[in-house]
Amino acid sequence: MMGHGRTAIRKVRQDVDQRPFLVIWEATRACQLVCQHCRADSQSEPHPRQLTTAEGERLLDDIASFGAPSPMVVISGGDPFEREDLEHLLAYGTRAGLSMSLAPSVTPAATRERFAAAAAAGAKAVSISLDGATAATHDGFRGIDGVFDATLPVCRDLVELGLRLQINTTVTAGNLAELPGILRQVVDLRAFLWSVFLLVPTGRGEALQALPPDEVEDLLHWLVDVSHHLAVKTTEAPHFRRVVLQRRAAGDADPAPTFGLGATYRWLRGELDALLAERPLPTRVPRPPLDINAGRGFVFIDHIGLVHPSGFLPVPGGSLRERSLPEIYREAPLFRQLRDASLLGGRCGRCEYRHVCGGSRSRAYAVTGDPLAEEPYCAYEPAGGRVIDATGAPVPA
Ligand code: SF4
Repeated sequence: MMGHGRTAIRKVRQDVDQRPFLVIWEATRACQLVCQHCRADSQSEPHPRQLTTAEGERLLDDIASFGAPSPMVVISGGDPFEREDLEHLLAYGTRAGLSMSLAPSVTPAATRERFAAAAAAGAKAVSISLDGATAATHDGFRGIDGVFDATLPVCRDLVELGLRLQINTTVTAGNLAELPGILRQVVDLRAFLWSVFLLVPTGRGEALQALPPDEVEDLLHWLVDVSHHLAVKTTEAPHFRRVVLQRRAAGDADPAPTFGLGATYRWLRGELDALLAERPLPTRVPRPPLDINAGRGFVFIDHIGLVHPSGFLPVPGGSLRERSLPEIYREAPLFRQLRDASLLGGRCGRCEYRHVCGGSRSRAYAVTGDPLAEEPYCAYEPAGGRVIDATGAPVPA
């Protein structure tokens, strides 16, 4: 069942010590929604020290200065539609040779006209959150009624406008049972990518229940199954790459007994089979997950210009108001440490997959206060074998 003939994990062309593959810019914290799991602890008004238009332009110039292949840029928030200069910034980044995307909130500001203007300014893809399969769960999760009903037409508009639609789903113990229903929506909405985010207990998300490690394992194996029919990626779940490599090594063996998976996997698998029986989806070669992690191919700029290894790891490596982005990304001690797998603690530190996975550094920090500690929500017990790279080949000692 595993797709052979293509690498299981996509190694980015960039030298990740020198330049990121993906830059997320939280252009504002202003947002009209108050979602329970919000990383940004968003506010109704922009912060007075939010990066100005000129500073935003300088940031985009900084990103372009990393050189080709240029990092991809996602303008996020808060809600980026709260910035009046959004279209200008999208066009500015596009002119600078950057691939620009958008992660807006679904509010009355998310009109078809605004998306059309974003597309005209060069936006390529838009990610929209869907955390429940019904209005009751999705709106309950976000804390505001009516968002679910507004979300589906927005998604349809985006696809009609030629923008690539990415659906983002945050998984918690509270919405695990909704995943098959959300998958149906993702298929119906013709999303090009389903991004499954594993909760990091930080911000408002702290109050929500995270999945225990054995259920995370079940979920990650199920996502491998789904990836044979739909493009899937995980956020803050780099152990998906370990699971992809394990599944590839196991060939066509039934994963449930081979990996000792639990009832959650069996149930999710049955739901996927039911969906496939209803509406046959083509079988595809899975999209290989990208080999990037916090501060290693990935960087997050917050609304006041602080540069973080990830949006869920609130330890800045420096400020854009004092140093350039390339300088901070390449030289900040935390960023350098995060790129050195030999510094990882606990099971991650002795894991055969530490180079290709490395665990969620954000979750390690959120749970232990140490960004280099072991990933707390990984069920894997390192077997003491050879350390391997993204191709599954041994890493030279
Ligand atoms: S122990 Fe750490 S490095 Fe190994 S698979 Fe789990 S999260 Fe990844």
